[in-house]
Amino acid sequence: MTMTRLGRPTLLGIPFDAYSSYLRGAGEAPGKIREALRCDASNSWTELRVDLGAAGAFEDAGDLKFAEKDAFAAIEAGVGALIEAGKRPVSLGGDHSITYPIVKAVAKQYPELTIFHFDAHPDLYEEFEGNRLSHACPFARIMEAGLAKRLVQVGIRTINQHQREQAQRFGVEVVEMRSLAAYAKLKAAGPVYITFDMDVLDPAFAPGVSHREPGGMSVRDVIAHLHAIEGEIVGADVVEYNPVQDVAGVTAIVAAKVLKEILGKMIAG
Ligand code: MN
Ligand code: MN
Repeated sequence: MTMTRLGRPTLLGIPFDAYSSYLRGAGEAPGKIREALRCDASNSWTELRVDLGAAGAFEDAGDLKFAEKDAFAAIEAGVGALIEAGKRPVSLGGDHSITYPIVKAVAKQYPELTIFHFDAHPDLYEEFEGNRLSHACPFARIMEAGLAKRLVQVGIRTINQHQREQAQRFGVEVVEMRSLAAYAKLKAAGPVYITFDMDVLDPAFAPGVSHREPGGMSVRDVIAHLHAIEGEIVGADVVEYNPVQDVAGVTAIVAAKVLKEILGKMIAG
């Protein structure tokens, strides 16, 4: 296996869904994704020929423990501790609000961050239903705090006028679903963070999400875009899998597949 000078990818479950605006359930995802990742129905090899079953390929730090009111501070501290230990955090959400405290910790170590964001939604609301930390807002918080040099959004298909203005204000590079493919956009100089909202997938492929938005990416579209990424991937998250909404666990398998290919990219460089 090719080793990279970057730290070992390390899973961290973040069972938090309190800032989900419509449905709870994403907090139950981390255990289900792990189960699917280790399921004997498949093997441990990624499509880019990385064996995730090899000794030391990746680690698992378990689930983060926190009280709901202190969640964001705990997430930032938990992710920060992994980075300080020389590991690359791969967080399993949870709703998408968690990406703000995660990126706070990542940006502390890696200024000049490029974020590749897969989602049906831009999540750029100034505030949503009175909550500035809602899962509809993380990228407004990240950009106004200057935590990323570039934000590239892929698969967007719900953008409204307010969020179009927000995207313009923050210089966000939005690739709408109707304009795919976006391979050329996924090249970065410097550190890269991948944030993957499961609802970027068409609900036919991934019904287990809180906000089903038709007209999305196929699993193959997603894998092709992940494989096209060029840059030093310093961290990632897979969020918004909602087991309560799933059908026979099919979305857990898709989440695990996405996770596998992200881990493979991180390891193979
Ligand atoms: Mn999202
Ligand atoms: Mn979304």
